[in-house]
Amino acid sequence: MTTQPATAPSSANPDEFNPFLSMAEEFDRAADHLGLDEGLREVLRTPNRELKVSLPVMMDDGHIKVFTGYRVQHNYLRGPCKGGIRFAPEVNLDEVRALAAWMTWKCSVVNIPFGGGKGGVICDPRTMSMKELEQLTRRYTAAIMDILGPDRDVPAPDMNTGEQTMAWIMDTYSMHVRSTTTAIVTGKPLSIGGSRGRREATGRGVMISANEALKMKGLRPEDTRVVVQGSGNVGGIGAMLMHRQGYRIVSLSDMYGSIYNDSGLDVNAVLSYLEDNGRLEGFPEAESMKNAEQLELDCEMIVPAATENQITSQNVDRIKAQLIVEGANGPTTAMAARILDDRGVIIVPDILANAGGVTVSYFEWVQDRMGYFWTEEVVNSRLEQIMVNSFQEVAETATKNSISLRAAAYIVAIDRVATVYRLRGMFA
Ligand code: NAD
Repeated sequence: MTTQPATAPSSANPDEFNPFLSMAEEFDRAADHLGLDEGLREVLRTPNRELKVSLPVMMDDGHIKVFTGYRVQHNYLRGPCKGGIRFAPEVNLDEVRALAAWMTWKCSVVNIPFGGGKGGVICDPRTMSMKELEQLTRRYTAAIMDILGPDRDVPAPDMNTGEQTMAWIMDTYSMHVRSTTTAIVTGKPLSIGGSRGRREATGRGVMISANEALKMKGLRPEDTRVVVQGSGNVGGIGAMLMHRQGYRIVSLSDMYGSIYNDSGLDVNAVLSYLEDNGRLEGFPEAESMKNAEQLELDCEMIVPAATENQITSQNVDRIKAQLIVEGANGPTTAMAARILDDRGVIIVPDILANAGGVTVSYFEWVQDRMGYFWTEEVVNSRLEQIMVNSFQEVAETATKNSISLRAAAYIVAIDRVATVYRLRGMFA
């Protein structure tokens, strides 16, 4: 994967762009609503464990470079921690903490038996060879493996990590424990215990969320012009599946620029053009535009599926969509979301809209542990059932309390974790 996290423009309030503060704000609002006492709030807000590791790697030119890595286990009350590993120069502990907490709430909102974790290594994979990346991945795995395990913490891919990274982690872990342990990571290649449907799962979950959100506005896919930011695993596959359902995908983007055609793009043709050319720019049946303008296009729905902090106090007044389905993690800042809520824009929050990926990761873990693999139809229909049920539960909570889907999703998620805490009691 190639996404880079977005940082705050110089004119903005940096707190708005801090994902940990955004998450904490949502958490506090939901905790107020649930009437959680201060002690329980502190338990649920505080990560269970944070590990920082130093990773010496022999670089190809013969010099040793020491990288820094993190693994944060936010909460394991509901089951093993689950969450990706990100390789990027901007990785920092606040970001990893926020992403780990989001994973706790995401797993809870779709009611799969996992807690939340996240990992990251500060590095720039674009400047590293495959051999260096393999060594870094193996060293990182060895450094954090005391807290990993199929019953403890199960990593997955995130920015700039993918199936190959997961294969190296699985191999390193298995070599240390002296037995092949496929359930130690998810997002693996099919031939070593990956799940059918995993690659499309997040995009499919986004499409299912979009279908449900559309019903709330009384729209049909064919009446819905959709702007999709990002053309990778989430945006590209999400756009392709939505196109198949009849949505009019009027714009797609990548990190270099955006393309636009008001009559609707042929998404399959766009994705093969992207594959052949490495970028969208120049796609013949569309006009090109700057990324900054893309989200301001006239449309019914935006699917931000690239990175954090894309809809912010800086551009929210120019957003025209009635529906936003968050494919990326944290694409709308808390400040922008409040303004959009007041305008009646429906936002399907990340912890619900992009939960298809972790749901099929859960299916992968189950299949690995059974040693018995499901057909793609079984995976997709179980995914659909979980996504639709979760969406409906969140929508009912929102309607009952006259609150946004985001506030409702946090309430459902936090209530579920709090209930487990009360039942298990405090270990002392
Ligand atoms: P990816 O690397 O496959 O694709 C990212 C796409 O976004 C690329 O097309 C890239 O060119 C584009 N992009 C990057 N910066 C951009 C910008 N500023 N404007 C427009 N396009 C830009 O990554 P992905 O797996 O699709 O992940 C995207 C987001 O979804 C991330 O926030 C990730 O954490 C989140 N997410 C991914 C999954 C998953 O299963 N892959 C699951 C849940 C959440």
